[in-house]
Amino acid sequence: MSVSILRVNSAGMPVEWLNWQEAVCLHARDLVSWTYGEEVMEVHGGYSRFTGEQTVVKLSSIMACKGKVVGLERKRPPLTNRALFRRDHNVCMYCGETFRECDLSRDHVIPISRGGRDIWTNVVTACKRCNARKGDLPLDRCGMELLALPYKPNHAEYLALTHSGRILGDQMAFLKRQFSSHSRLLEDATLVAS
Ligand SMILES: [Zn+2]
Repeated sequence: MSVSILRVNSAGMPVEWLNWQEAVCLHARDLVSWTYGEEVMEVHGGYSRFTGEQTVVKLSSIMACKGKVVGLERKRPPLTNRALFRRDHNVCMYCGETFRECDLSRDHVIPISRGGRDIWTNVVTACKRCNARKGDLPLDRCGMELLALPYKPNHAEYLALTHSGRILGDQMAFLKRQFSSHSRLLEDATLVAS
């Protein structure tokens, strides 16, 4: 079973996704300060030599760990096509149509050949047709318009974008609190498990 647990710091700031083995390790090392959300898994361990009882760890969908997580705000979310397409909901930012991942491409709003950089704020999702049509022209020369401005996801948004499956409702609620107000992920229901 594949289940992801959202690790947050003691103040409730999302940190990372854990698999159940990592979550059990943190429990065993007594590093969990609180848990929240629905129970997603029950893990049975060894039997105690003293009481003869089997240890059971109940994993909740969200867990806070002791200790400080440093540099989280400064951490830059790496730019990948997958995360980029998800940021833009698989919608071409020029023609507005929705495409499968394999039919999409990364378009540099200011083309690399004209000094544009390969960074979140200069890239949008584009279908291959629109990308080819735009070529390496800047926006004002190709007669095309952007449907929405590119933005750099913050850490919570990035966690939502890079999660491989559906995110549980309570996890998403936690992440959303940290989303920036311009985030297009705020209305995205497809990321959440029903
Ligand atoms: Zn297009």
